[in-house]
Amino acid sequence: MELALDQPVLVLNRLWQAVNVIGARRAFALLARGHASVVHHYEDDFKVFSMMDWIDFSRYNPPLSAGETVHTVRHTIRLPRVILLTFFDKLPCKELKLTRNNVFERDRNHCQYCGGHFPREELNLDHVIPRHYGGRTTWENIVCSCVKCNTRKANRLPHEAGVRLIRKPVRPKWRPVISLVLGARHREMWKDFLDLAYWNVELDE
Ligand SMILES: [Zn+2]
Repeated sequence: MELALDQPVLVLNRLWQAVNVIGARRAFALLARGHASVVHHYEDDFKVFSMMDWIDFSRYNPPLSAGETVHTVRHTIRLPRVILLTFFDKLPCKELKLTRNNVFERDRNHCQYCGGHFPREELNLDHVIPRHYGGRTTWENIVCSCVKCNTRKANRLPHEAGVRLIRKPVRPKWRPVISLVLGARHREMWKDFLDLAYWNVELDE
């Protein structure tokens, strides 16, 4: 069918926290089953529409561009950009795994000692407090570092090696998977929701 059905739609849970990005096709399936509502910025507010309300709204408020709609036999429906799940109360608390890629993503491929930007192949993971000092493998103790800084620091504490972290390593506030999926255009469109998407649940170590 149309390319429009492959457009990304941001999914919010009932706490209005961004939890996923899905294709419009799946979003329509959720809407049709009453599992979700459309959230739309309208008249300086966020309005929530059921599927039927959204079909009505689409009829009286056609979008500016034709690529923003989906045609069915009887209706022309606007593409939803954001949907709100109506059923799932719980925060889908999928723990963000402490993986090499997730650390690189958090640190945005910047060495946390010299601040330089490097390709991933040229970055190591460094235990800020070395393991033999009792340093653990946790979000708070693992950072990206370039080969040069890593070699310089070796198995020492940062101050012993004369290096300093450019920022305190913390567990990411939200799942990098969402930031990876977003292009700049959608980031702008979804900004209000992504600001709400910060995890406020502290995960156990
Ligand atoms: Zn470095």
